[in-house]
Amino acid sequence: MALLAGRMATLGTENAFKLGEDIARAAARGVDVIRLNLGEPDFDSAPHINRVAIREIEAGNSHYCDPAGILPLRRAIARHLRDSRGLEVDPGRVVVTPGAKPPIGYTLLTHVDPGDEVIYPSPGFPIYESWVTFAGGRPVPLQLTEERGFAFTADDLEALISERTKVIILCSPSNPTGGVLSRDDIEGVAEVIRRRCRPEVRIYSDEIYEHILFDGVRHHSIASCEGMAERTILVSGHSKGFAMTGWRLGWALLPTAEEAAAFKQLNINLVSCVPPFIQEAGRAAYEDPASRDAVAGMVAAFARRRDYVVPALNAIDGIRCQMPKGAFYVFPNVAGLCERLGILEAYEALPAAARQRTSPATMLQMFLLYRHGVATMDRNSFGRIGAEGQHFLRLSIATGLDNLKRAVARLAEAAADRDGFAAFLAEENLWG
Ligand code: PLP
Repeated sequence: MALLAGRMATLGTENAFKLGEDIARAAARGVDVIRLNLGEPDFDSAPHINRVAIREIEAGNSHYCDPAGILPLRRAIARHLRDSRGLEVDPGRVVVTPGAKPPIGYTLLTHVDPGDEVIYPSPGFPIYESWVTFAGGRPVPLQLTEERGFAFTADDLEALISERTKVIILCSPSNPTGGVLSRDDIEGVAEVIRRRCRPEVRIYSDEIYEHILFDGVRHHSIASCEGMAERTILVSGHSKGFAMTGWRLGWALLPTAEEAAAFKQLNINLVSCVPPFIQEAGRAAYEDPASRDAVAGMVAAFARRRDYVVPALNAIDGIRCQMPKGAFYVFPNVAGLCERLGILEAYEALPAAARQRTSPATMLQMFLLYRHGVATMDRNSFGRIGAEGQHFLRLSIATGLDNLKRAVARLAEAAADRDGFAAFLAEENLWG
């Protein structure tokens, strides 16, 4: 009898958390690590939000509450959806969850039977692929290519839709690419779905970066397109826009009361409820006018950093980086760097089993961390299936400009350190 159930082998992970072990090891060896790996704002949650949570705890609002979420917060979310997306929402179809991550698993558990197909963006948030395989679904990655600015066309999507398609995952603004779907892109997707999908097929629209947009770009939700509100599970939350990652507060708008009941039941089975004092603070995030300035100030800082980092990366021989329109990541192509440093050859020379476990971008990621003190994320951390031959890194710009400048200088040094890579490979024996 095995210790762990067989299904655990099908569960993926989020390497941004796992990389912590390598960072700790590098730091223990005396490397001063600049962390560009984590997907969270470097800003703290705003004082007007913090004060509400403290006041509520002191007032004794620290007990179990409605597993679907407290009604005042669900009403505030409904108003936010009306004001931002023109949707008329029954708060009875909103379910509050501990972060925007649980609704991914809830959707897969609620809607996908073994063998059902799930289309999801790749590169994309790794938890999509993780849950598809864990739930026994068939993963169908929709490859986002650099040539198309990490967007996709309605035709690309249509080519992947089959009789077995059950869920189509969209994410805009995107982690990791920073790509944003325009209103036209989204209308095109909606048209294909209306024409090709049965009414039971669900769109999972991950809108967690809805507040973080640059250059006057506006957020558009597929739920606002004709006939789509009836099919869309719209998910967002407080982690990114309100800098509340550690609070664990998110929500889902479900197309039917039946699906909202299923999400509530999953909450009951897994977490009972989200702490009520956190939900009250989350309500203040939507209702207190002070939030507008807090969010705008943070987004302006991200924009300044993006405007520095993208040209600075492009000035390094071997790196090619597009300008993201939203979120707080840049996603440079590092194929040239892998070539310059001899990583592509070193990868090809690895035994087949080792090649399975790594990629050239992963080898570059480890070299940058251990030898040059910059923590990044590799392409394979954003969906592995079909990612062979794609050489990218994700750098988070949710860190101060001084850190970003130091990090870019280190990347430029690393780019000229071919001998350093050869020595690293020989000394570390990371890939056998
Ligand atoms: N969806 C995307 C695209 C994300 O990038 C993240 C976090 O990195 C999440 C969902 C999860 O957000 P939360 O921390 O609110 O669970």
